[in-house]
Amino acid sequence: MKAFLNGKFVEKNEKLITLENRGLTFGDGLFEVLRVKDGHIFFFEDHLLRMKSSASFFGIPFPYSLDEIKNRAHELISLNRINDGELYIELTRGVDTNREHRYPPRSTQTTFFMLAIPLREINPENWKRGAAVFSFPDLRHKLCEHKTINLLPNVMAKNFAYERGGYEALMYRENSKGKYITEGGSSNYFLVKNCTVITPEIDNILPGITRSKVIKLLKESGIEVVERRVYLEEFLSADEVFLVSTVSMVMPVRRIDDREFKAPGEITLKAMELYRDFMDKEKERY
Ligand code: PLP
Repeated sequence: MKAFLNGKFVEKNEKLITLENRGLTFGDGLFEVLRVKDGHIFFFEDHLLRMKSSASFFGIPFPYSLDEIKNRAHELISLNRINDGELYIELTRGVDTNREHRYPPRSTQTTFFMLAIPLREINPENWKRGAAVFSFPDLRHKLCEHKTINLLPNVMAKNFAYERGGYEALMYRENSKGKYITEGGSSNYFLVKNCTVITPEIDNILPGITRSKVIKLLKESGIEVVERRVYLEEFLSADEVFLVSTVSMVMPVRRIDDREFKAPGEITLKAMELYRDFMDKEKERY
């Protein structure tokens, strides 16, 4: 398998990364995961613009134009013969032998790499009958609107769910009014209550690409969508819950901790169908 690293195609398993890369020593970098199917990369601009905007926020030079990245990504996908898979992109602030926290000079070469790999294995029952999810404290910092490689709290949360036979963790924070659910370890979520769809507003959570597509599709089909904070009690009294992400797409939830939900509910099925059709149309358009 090939990978793309700093302008070249290389063998994926070659030892290529310098130990003093700031991605390793400081978690000083960003990533994106894009869905690939039948030679098409879904929502390429959305993902890359999110990365570019975060790179600018953190002062990480962005090394290529979107067209260059897209061309190289297509080459990589065909080199690795990926039909149904994922494109992983990572950008770090590069190598810094001083291991100083402050940013190195802007002339330091960033590290930019891409992997094109087959889709990870997910039990199809999760889409048919719903996934089990577990709640876990959201232990993250205040930079959750950026897709940074600092994922330790997400790793802990998802591992907690995994050890209990779950697919995803839903993370919660607490204020004087109680616990509220922010997002999944690697997904956003929606709940349905009395035919209204509710999802947390973008307030220290990742502005998911799938989330924004699903909101638009539901609204266009006449379903009311409200973006606001969701407290645990309201969450537990929901009629339906579903997760959304590049990899999970729209996935019903059948259980959170000990509470069971109807899965898939009617609106969840509608969202699944709308999103599937939307992806099919996008694939035809390019
Ligand atoms: N929230 C978090 C914390 C994530 O890591 C992800 C994706 O990995 C998402 C939400 C979903 O984002 P997207 O729909 O852009 O894949």
